[in-house]
Amino acid sequence: MSTIFSKIAKGEIPSYKIAENEDFFAFLDINPMAKGHTLVIPKKEVDYIFDLDDEVLAKLNIFAKKIAIAQKEALQCLRIGSMVIGLEVPHAHIHLIPINKESDMSLSNPRLKLSEEEFIEIANAIKAKL
Ligand code: AMP
Repeated sequence: MSTIFSKIAKGEIPSYKIAENEDFFAFLDINPMAKGHTLVIPKKEVDYIFDLDDEVLAKLNIFAKKIAIAQKEALQCLRIGSMVIGLEVPHAHIHLIPINKESDMSLSNPRLKLSEEEFIEIANAIKAKL
């Protein structure tokens, strides 16, 4: 059985895609902690990020770096915070979250409710900076 994130990467479930290559895929988190909150995943289905092969983990981070640079330009925030949780979806992923202060990374913050138009606008803004 494939994970929800595998289905997203294959286009079987819709997402607000930011970028992909042969091995990795990036898309907007549907319950964002901040505008532009993005998830990057390996297409290879591995649950726990630290079970990834060294080379895949390294390349995942290099892919994440490109996305983070584009996010920072598009959203004009101070930093892109990077976080791994993985308790909800059993498919390795890195959260990339635009932040201006430490508390923007707090998991107890309420998630944003964005319209489809807002998601599309944010995704387009990030893609334009890639
Ligand atoms: P975690 O596994 O704890 O790192 O959290 C999984 C993240 O995936 C949460 O921030 C969810 O909002 C996000 N998420 C779950 N399903 C989807 C989906 N279909 N599209 C985009 N993001 C999702």
